[in-house]
Amino acid sequence: MRPPAELWSAVVRRGASEERTFCFDEVRQWPRPIFDRLVELGLLREGPLAASVVCDACGKMHREDVLWEPSVRDPLGKRAYIRCPDEGPVHVPEIRLRQWVVDGNVMAANLAAAMALSGSVEEILAGSVWKLGRRRLAGRFRDVFLSMAGTSEHARIAEVAARHLTAKDGILLAGQPHLNSHGMDRLTVFDAAEVVELGTDGLTVDLDYIEDALPRDRAIKEDKIRSLPIPEGITWPEITLDVGESSLRVLARGHSWNIDLEEAGFADTRRKHGEADKLFQILLWFALHHGRLPLAEVKRRKGNPDGFRRQISNLRKRLANLIPAEGESILWDPEQEAYTCGFKIKRAGDIDLPLPSDGSWMSCQIIERRNGRIAVGVKANSVRRARDARTGEPGAAEHQETVWNEYSLVDLGLARDVDRLLPEGQTLLELLRSGGRLVRAGDDMAVLKLNRWLRDRTGLGGDPLQFSEATGTWIAAFDCSSERPR
Ligand SMILES: [Zn+2]
Repeated sequence: MRPPAELWSAVVRRGASEERTFCFDEVRQWPRPIFDRLVELGLLREGPLAASVVCDACGKMHREDVLWEPSVRDPLGKRAYIRCPDEGPVHVPEIRLRQWVVDGNVMAANLAAAMALSGSVEEILAGSVWKLGRRRLAGRFRDVFLSMAGTSEHARIAEVAARHLTAKDGILLAGQPHLNSHGMDRLTVFDAAEVVELGTDGLTVDLDYIEDALPRDRAIKEDKIRSLPIPEGITWPEITLDVGESSLRVLARGHSWNIDLEEAGFADTRRKHGEADKLFQILLWFALHHGRLPLAEVKRRKGNPDGFRRQISNLRKRLANLIPAEGESILWDPEQEAYTCGFKIKRAGDIDLPLPSDGSWMSCQIIERRNGRIAVGVKANSVRRARDARTGEPGAAEHQETVWNEYSLVDLGLARDVDRLLPEGQTLLELLRSGGRLVRAGDDMAVLKLNRWLRDRTGLGGDPLQFSEATGTWIAAFDCSSERPR
């Protein structure tokens, strides 16, 4: 059984082709409720009986012209048959000759209503191009057109739509979307099969998607976004995004950039300045969910997974323009049915543990201080200005030293308040007090959470805690100790 989206796509494509009709043999395979809805809406209307039909008697699927012979037994007073080379005359039941035409006028009227357009629907190229009306989209009024013409009609579509533009620019919903940009510089073309859905209450148009894709006035066009000068050959897993309510920081191989949301195209030009757009909200959502959004969660929050899929595809494009990293930024995991960030993502304000210069857990130390605070030390290269003793010239020398930072367990998000440790916080203390070894099961939730917490807060690769099957012990890859009196 074909899903509604695929059927809708078939209707749109056929409507924008030479033929414009579906024969009985085609529609008999459709889910009945969807066919009925299309007929009720008037998008499909019954046309004249077919003049030819495929032979179903010999199995060779040849198409033959329909012939008629008088028949007193049939209500029509005649009977249809075709001549099959193998089987001779083959009777064709009248029902097989029924056909349905995709009605462009009705589609135009339905779309204008679905988009709440003002103005009246105007057929500007007979049977193939309509001006549907106008509405405010992405900050200003734009004209909306529908083309149900084939791509070979490109020049005529572009010419007639351009002539009927009353706004500065407009959008064209196309039944055959592969139009080139020639003559279309004031029109943004959308695939009517993609942005329109056939719902139980009629057609719906994904205005969010359209607005996201439209050129913006204040913000910079997608293809004009200035890419970050990240080191060449960097891959998405090496990138970290630090997402705040209205801030974005990108970290890669020890560099970091604060992104101007407006310059990066993430500002919502439909609202007062300073607000982030829908795609940025999705980034925030990913950050809250540690870079992984299961489809079930998307459906629970958004209802419409198709719309979300399109937003993800826009977000991928925007990220690719901003960060020229290799590979795919957001992946679909078909087994887990989840969208997964190919990069690390976290909420701004989550404390970052310092990074050792060699990027290794072996170069980290964590100590529980006497006063209950947690000290984190990492080996880092530091450049110290020094005068050369012999020449007196100022010079720079690189030293390796351990850089220390101290945090409370609350700061680190490992305790709700001073007296209430989270399980992973309790586990960290036990680990520090036991010198980095914990006898716990391999699937102990608190240890797994702590492992993840350490990875997320440092962005270091590899597991900071490793389970030894032989001894049934978790072992820390970093140095653990406690100054607390026993
Ligand atoms: Zn035949």
